[in-house]
Amino acid sequence: MTQLVERFMRYVAIDTQSDPESNAFPSTEKQKDLSSLLAQELLQMGIADAHMDEWGYVYATIPSNSDKDIPVICFCSHVDTAPDCSGSNVKPILHRQYAGQDIILPDDPSQVITTKAHPYLLQKIGDDIITASGLTLLGADDKAGVAIIMELVRRLVSDPSIQHGKLKILFTPDEEVGRGVEHVDMQKLGADFGYTLDGSELGSLEFETFSADGVEIIIHGIIAHPGSAKGKLVNAIKIAADFVAALPKDSMAPEVTEGRQGFFHPTDIKGGAESATIKFIIRDFETARLAEHEASLEDILKRVMAQYPGATYQYKVKEQYRNMREILDQYPDVVGRAANAMRACGLTPLSEPVRGGTDGSRLSFMGLPCPNIFTGEMALHSKHEFVSVQDMEKAVEVLVKLVQHWELSADRSILPTS
Ligand SMILES: [Zn+2]
Repeated sequence: MTQLVERFMRYVAIDTQSDPESNAFPSTEKQKDLSSLLAQELLQMGIADAHMDEWGYVYATIPSNSDKDIPVICFCSHVDTAPDCSGSNVKPILHRQYAGQDIILPDDPSQVITTKAHPYLLQKIGDDIITASGLTLLGADDKAGVAIIMELVRRLVSDPSIQHGKLKILFTPDEEVGRGVEHVDMQKLGADFGYTLDGSELGSLEFETFSADGVEIIIHGIIAHPGSAKGKLVNAIKIAADFVAALPKDSMAPEVTEGRQGFFHPTDIKGGAESATIKFIIRDFETARLAEHEASLEDILKRVMAQYPGATYQYKVKEQYRNMREILDQYPDVVGRAANAMRACGLTPLSEPVRGGTDGSRLSFMGLPCPNIFTGEMALHSKHEFVSVQDMEKAVEVLVKLVQHWELSADRSILPTS
């Protein structure tokens, strides 16, 4: 078993599930079990400043071994696993030289990873595939990224002939509950550009995500005792129900859109006869179109409200995150060098827009332009999660090439001007 595989198998066995209901940070203390281990292992590899902070972030610096003036590059991945599926007692299974069959998971044989549902498996025939055992997720999202970065560090430390500038390592908690970058100390991190290792298919290089807003609508009816309500009562529940029923069904909803299409999507509704609150998420790849979607959503609401004289509403828009491409387009070298590193490793970079956000989209707007590189993790957040060992190895190879590319064409003139 290679060190990369051995590392990965150890990391996934540690329960690091995050919790969306928790107000603590990190949302679960157990995430620190892995984070403190990582800090310790980095120290053992000779990374003198490696440590975990009070929030559970791991920071480490690999000093430059070049005399050139090179931008500081950060590699980042998250230690937590998704709340959607159990992450305790993960038993990883290594299927050597995968032969193209459906994979039956032994601890619950009703759990079968089929090539029909996951045609990517058919591209992986001959690879070594790691799965969970049927009762839990695997946690390749994002422990594949963690193991890849740790293996990169080991290679760099053990082979000084690989020239590179100053590198920063960042492991974050709570990505899966949308709070992964809440307490990152950008000053302390001190990096110019970053790469998250949290992508899926071999060759994937993501630099475009949704732009995202949240909308909260509060509908105020007119309350009256039902015994004497005639001509007075205006019931907020009925307005809310009419409004939701009036939303478009063939467009503008996640269940009927794909690719670059945007949507508005009700995520929460509660209330009574007096008032009702409905929450929406609004998504598009063009930030400017969010306002258009918000206006058309409000138009629908106004038409419904017009049938209920006396009732009023509040309409609150809150920015959530923005398409990282808006930032990355200003620093084409960041994506460009990753693409070149992949080509140098014999890969064709694949760039699909991500219908979601990543830690990288938030980091990009916090001053760290940060695309996302593949790790091989597939079927995320489910018992059918799997990863190809050869994909992970290829990612390490790409990172080695990438730090070499940054060293070879050292050029600080492309740095962000703050
Ligand atoms: Zn992830």
